[in-house]
Amino acid sequence: MKCKYCDKDSRDWFLFIPYADHHCAKCGQPLCEDHRKHTYQYDMENPGYTKPMDLCHECYNERDNKVESVIAVKSNHIGGHNIVDEKGYIETGFEFENYDNAIWDLKFNAQLKGANAITNLKTISHQHKDDNYIYKKWTAGGNLVVIEKHSS
Ligand SMILES: [Zn+2]
Ligand SMILES: [Zn+2]
Repeated sequence: MKCKYCDKDSRDWFLFIPYADHHCAKCGQPLCEDHRKHTYQYDMENPGYTKPMDLCHECYNERDNKVESVIAVKSNHIGGHNIVDEKGYIETGFEFENYDNAIWDLKFNAQLKGANAITNLKTISHQHKDDNYIYKKWTAGGNLVVIEKHSS
């Protein structure tokens, strides 16, 4: 199949035989090696783990914008909003070098589970020691909720 963006093939070949075909996990369009955006999806069958997925640039950006709109707070409520559904507690599956990436991943998984907010946001720092150098890694956790603005 021809890539959504260029003339390259979306299939992987070995000895003239195609063995894998790559499509965007959201819109289903074929993607070549150069035009796949790699990301991770929370693995519903294995809580605490994520699995890799390919997305095209449009679907990736759309998801990125949605992720950015997820609100995360340390308290158990969000001012001006009612909690209308609870989707349970979740923690990021990886240890991230960067604090912001741990939060992004938590929001990403909240979005996949249909939540638009996270309450009781916790960030957990892990100390790693490598010869003489001590560095921090991060995971983030919180309660996934669906919120709606108070109607006055
Ligand atoms: Zn391409
Ligand atoms: Zn797509």
